[in-house]
Parts: sequence; C-alpha cells; structure tokens
Amino acid sequence: MDSIGQKIENIKRSGGYRELRYIDSAQGSSAVIDGIRVLLLSSNNYLGLCNDERLKEAAIEAVKTYGVGSGGSRLTTGSMALHRELEERIASFKKRECGMVYNTGYMANLGTISGLTDESWTVFSDRLNHASIVDGCRLSKAKFVVYKHCDIKDLEKKLKRYKGKSNLVVTDGVFSMDGNIAPLKDILSIAKRNGAMTMVDDAHATGVIGEHGRGTEEYLGLEGEVDIQMGTLSKALGGEGGFIASRKEIVEYLRHRAKSFVYSTALSPATLATALASISIVESESFSREKLRLDSAWFRAELQAMGFSVPDGVTPIIPILVGDSELGMEFSRRLMESGIYIPCIRPPTVPKNTSRLRVTIMATHKREELEWALEVLKDLGAELGITRGVGADG
Ligand SMILES: *Cc1c(COP(=O)(O)O)cnc(C)c1O
Repeated sequence: MDSIGQKIENIKRSGGYRELRYIDSAQGSSAVIDGIRVLLLSSNNYLGLCNDERLKEAAIEAVKTYGVGSGGSRLTTGSMALHRELEERIASFKKRECGMVYNTGYMANLGTISGLTDESWTVFSDRLNHASIVDGCRLSKAKFVVYKHCDIKDLEKKLKRYKGKSNLVVTDGVFSMDGNIAPLKDILSIAKRNGAMTMVDDAHATGVIGEHGRGTEEYLGLEGEVDIQMGTLSKALGGEGGFIASRKEIVEYLRHRAKSFVYSTALSPATLATALASISIVESESFSREKLRLDSAWFRAELQAMGFSVPDGVTPIIPILVGDSELGMEFSRRLMESGIYIPCIRPPTVPKNTSRLRVTIMATHKREELEWALEVLKDLGAELGITRGVGADG
C-alpha cells in the first residue's frame, strides 16, 4: 500500500496538485492575493455583496445585540429568533411554505437528500451535478442513477423503469462549471408524468437570474413547481450558509432526519443578519442584476470573437475551455503575472480533458477593468495558442 507521501507524489505527477492562494483584503472587483493586488475574474460574489456596507452594518449590529456564537445545535440551544426570521424570509423569497437553513450549501444538499430518501427510493442525478449532490446520494441508502447531462430522453428512459416507486430527480439549476441552465420545464413534466419528486440546486442562480433574483424557476416562468428549492447564502448573497425552501411537511420531516442540520452548531447571529439584509437587497435591486447580465453577454461575445472556445450562455459563468490541464495551468499562471486571477479548473472537478478557466463577471466590475482583462486574455490566448485565430482582426 502507498504511504500518504507517495499518494501526494502521485497527485503531483498527474498534474492535480493544488496550492492555496491567500487573500488579504476585502473582496471587491480586485483583491490582494499573496501580497499583490489583482483583478478577480472568477469569484462567485456575483453582485459584489461580500463587502457591501449595508451587510457589514447588519452583521455588526447583530454582533452587538446577540454576540458572536449560537452556542448550540438547532434542536438544542442554537436556534435563535434570527433563524426563524431568516427561514420565513427564505420561504417568502422562494415562494414556498417553509424555509430551512443549513450551515452551508454543501450541508444542505447532504442533509436534504440523505434525510429525505431511504432504501425504498431512487435518486436521479444529472452527470454534471455538484459534488455535494453526489455525496448526498452516497450518504443515502437510496439507489443512485446518473443520467446524461441535461439529457431529457435519457432521464425519461431511466425514470420509466422505476415508475410507481419513490423517486427524486435532482439537478443544478445553473451548472457551476459551465454556466448553462437545466432544461427544467422538460424535467418537471417528465418527473410529473412518472410521479417523481423534484429538487433544484440554485446555488449559482439565486440572486443572479429571474427578475427578482429568485433563480431558475423564476427565470423560466415555472415558479412554485419544483418540490424542493435548494440554494446557498454564500454566492450572489455574499455571506455564508445554505438553505432549502419547500412544503411544510418536508421541512418538518427533514428537521428530524437531516443529520447535517441536527448535529452541527447553528449559524452565528452575524451570518443570519447578513443573509436577511442580503435577500432584501437582491430582491429589490434588479439594476445590478441587469448590469451583470449585460456585461456578461458582452464579455462572452468578445471572448468568442477572439477565437476562444466559449459556449453560448446567459449567466455570468463564462468557461474558457482549454482541455489540457498543463496548458490551462500555464494560462492561469501567466494571467496572474499580468494581474488577473482566474484559477484553472481541472479534473476531478470537471470531466477529463475539459480543463478550463472559469471566468465569472461581477456587477461591481468597472468597464475599464473588463476591457483591460480582454486585452490581456487576447494577447495570452494568441501567445499560448489557445485561441484558434478566428478573431475579428486575426
Ligand atoms: C457552491 C455550491 C454548493 C455548495 O454551497 P456552499 O454554500 O458553498 O457550501 C452547492 N451546489 C452548487 C451547485 C454549488 O455551486
């Protein structure tokens, strides 16, 4: 058997070794990383709320009033009035009977899927679903069936075999590494026809798409149709934490069954107050969402025109597909030297030979910053042979 040291060597040899980058400033459109200020072009802080003055104020007030810790788990001494307020707010935001807060989005998927299902269930999961969904399925005693990415026919074929049993179909609303939107209308009608429950992970959609930022359902005009809405407070909402919104009985059941909810100390007052303030901002300030949408569309089109391999899409997640990990790493390193931070996303986070630079736009990016970034990307893309040279001016 290999020692741990040998296993690390194997990771290094396969090109999968990861280094941590440390940020030593607030996160705006730029941040100080390892001592140098660089443009952030890969953050999930889509609306720039991580460092919003109103949220900082809400957090400070909550600390002054309630202190810094919750002191217990949700079912013992950790449930604060702020938890109830936030769960009610999430319910109204997502237009559901009940909300339920978990400490992270990861824990929300883990607890919800493993808590809801047992050996009598089958869970159907898109092949590119987030790792926390996969882990939720693994932790459950349910049978786990993977269907091809966004492939309605494959889902229907597989679902038909289990008709009449307890089934759950889970999909990302917006896929985290590609930025595409799930064909939710079709998924819902197939699920309905085959008597399956549905769950949507809207980690990258909440706050970002839909007129009021309610996510994929609102964007596609399907509000209220998904059985379980999952989301996170940690991306566009700028803080941390995860949640689901659903029918009362489902939340009531999960409070007993979801271990990541039951056996972990509850979120702190500052985090809860931040999320409460953040939801109101997200719901009411559609102008920053609109700016984000327009900037993303423009930036994506520019990259495509330069000859980068960038799929079409409508979200601020803009993957530049490179394929080879080594080349992607080199691209990312050279960008960092030029003052732009875009890490290379490699397997196992994405499928083999699909390494990519996952560009994301934030509503707080200035036009000049994005224009400069495009120039740097263009020059490096040509130098490293990543662009195919089909750009407007060669
Ligand atoms: C980030 C993410 C999660 C996990 O949310 P956290 O709050 O960061 O734990 C779950 N699902 C998807 C699709 C994500 O991108």
